[in-house]
Amino acid sequence: MQQRQTIQKQIIIETLDKLKNAKGHLSIDEIYNAVKENYAAISKTTVYRNVRQLAEMGSIKLILLEDGIERYDINIHDHHHFTCISCDTIYDVEIDGLLDFSQFLDENYDFTVETVNLSFTGICDTCKSKK
Ligand SMILES: [Zn+2]
Ligand SMILES: [Zn+2]
Repeated sequence: MQQRQTIQKQIIIETLDKLKNAKGHLSIDEIYNAVKENYAAISKTTVYRNVRQLAEMGSIKLILLEDGIERYDINIHDHHHFTCISCDTIYDVEIDGLLDFSQFLDENYDFTVETVNLSFTGICDTCKSKK
């Protein structure tokens, strides 16, 4: 049983890794469908459980954007998101200067910032150049 669980988790990790380049922000259904292609016998419950465990372990990150759909982010480094309202692509963006915001909150409110989630929406460069 233990062995089987390990294999299932391994398959999920491998699938996520393959998806990394294609699209880094996946809903649980997208992950499940991709895993099923490699391992037809896997159940949705198993995928759900493993994905949640991976998120708890910090191997992937749960993100929530404006549309309220839970997605898992393969990029676990600190970054923010830009969602294109034209093609629905979610881009990773890194922004300098956020540390200053944290400092600001610390100095002015005595709040200690632990996580920052910023999400932007707009039109991406690809969609802009199509017009
Ligand atoms: Zn776009
Ligand atoms: Zn991301």
